[in-house]
Amino acid sequence: MTRTVLVAGLFHETHTFLAETTGLSDFEAGIVNFGQDIIDNTRGDGSPMDGFLSHAEGEGWSLVPSVHMAAMPSGLVEDAVVDLFEARLFDDLERTVDTLDGIFLVLHGAMVSQSRDDVEGTLLAALKDRLAARGSDIPIVAILDLHANVSEAMAANSTVLTAYRQNPHADARETAIRGAAMLGALFEGPHPTQVHLATPYVLPPVGQGSGNEPMKSVLARARAIEAADPDIVGINVMAGYAYADIADCGFSLNSATHGDRERAMAYLRELRAIAEANLAAGYPSDDPLDMVLRKCDALPAGQGPVLLIEAADNIGGGTPGDATGILGPLLETGRRSIVAAINDPASVQACVAAGQGAEVTLSIGAKTDGHHGEPVAFAGVVRNLTDGRFDLENPKSHMASMQGTRIDMGPSAVVANDQATILLTTHKTAPMDLGHLHSQGIRPEDADYVIVKAAVSHKDAYDPIARASFHVDSAGLCTSNLTRLPYKKLAGKHISFPGPIGA
Ligand SMILES: [Zn+2]
Repeated sequence: MTRTVLVAGLFHETHTFLAETTGLSDFEAGIVNFGQDIIDNTRGDGSPMDGFLSHAEGEGWSLVPSVHMAAMPSGLVEDAVVDLFEARLFDDLERTVDTLDGIFLVLHGAMVSQSRDDVEGTLLAALKDRLAARGSDIPIVAILDLHANVSEAMAANSTVLTAYRQNPHADARETAIRGAAMLGALFEGPHPTQVHLATPYVLPPVGQGSGNEPMKSVLARARAIEAADPDIVGINVMAGYAYADIADCGFSLNSATHGDRERAMAYLRELRAIAEANLAAGYPSDDPLDMVLRKCDALPAGQGPVLLIEAADNIGGGTPGDATGILGPLLETGRRSIVAAINDPASVQACVAAGQGAEVTLSIGAKTDGHHGEPVAFAGVVRNLTDGRFDLENPKSHMASMQGTRIDMGPSAVVANDQATILLTTHKTAPMDLGHLHSQGIRPEDADYVIVKAAVSHKDAYDPIARASFHVDSAGLCTSNLTRLPYKKLAGKHISFPGPIGA
């Protein structure tokens, strides 16, 4: 019997402290597909949507591809974007609801719009209401990013939520395939119950790697519980996304079970206790640059660069990618063999105007807002000009979870002098795959220092080539020191260790 599934995707991680909003044009620079275009433009690109489509194809499901929208992490999403998504989704639903066996959604789970703190929760609730109004109780399965800020409404209005388990997100596509298999099981069997446990812990991204505590132990125990209890459909360990000033911000746990609800909740409390026992490791502190450079000088001789991790301008966390808080002071020290990448369309244009091989004097970076340092004066030679397109070297890169494997940085330039080689891009591009630099003729392997605008998502790409890696404290709205941010809605939550903020 052929099954019919409506599939849609809405993917954004929203940094609510950034001044610039995220509009339709930002989604158009990422992904906006309707109907058959979802299949034609996504199949084979290594993304979560591709994972779902491949499973559906294998099962012979008939699809109602509705709407798929995704943008890079950035500021508050404009209402018009969510309105457009819902109009199309609900229209397709009304048209096809009597033919459907299930709904599959590719979500992020940390999306905030101008008028909604919990976009996914309200979306799922509206979807469920519409199904109920038509007398339908078909399953709704949604996949989530590990950084989702999960609300009670998301769990209450979906049948099964299943989230990435690795950070960096090497398992994004695989998660979609697992979610699709879960949906397949729901066509025949009973629907499970979902339980959700919020916690007061808001961890900075640097404390959320799946290879580090507290995530490591909690994830391991979650897998052991799933293996031991056949009633458990799945357990999600949600690291949360810190840069959202919303009530549901933070670390949470949820589970779908065919068994006893209280037993499932007891598992989640056990997992929360494991997180609490390892909580200090979730709040690492970044050292100032001068201290890091002293540590660099004390390292034994070795192969490969030292990574200077600029978590405060973590592009995968939403910041502009043009912070200069490490580049500027590092150049001033006189050190050499530095590699950096800065998003700066104006400087790219200056390089294009000068031409390859020309000498240029640029004022690089810090152009988006007042939170990411000062522009850096840089005189060098335009070594390379490209259209900025490249394919990921690692198709399981964290980047594939956001954009698939084909990346477009927009017109890009490489400028170099005897101190540094700097990649300048038109679209901010997260350092999650070495193709980012290799495609532009830069070999980070041969540098002494590589400035990396990330917190954790770079690790699969950069840790294997590096001699050492240090997180450097600098200015930026993805700071690891969450006490610097003007939260208003996190009363009673922990944003540092130990101790809560608010009453
Ligand atoms: Zn994520």
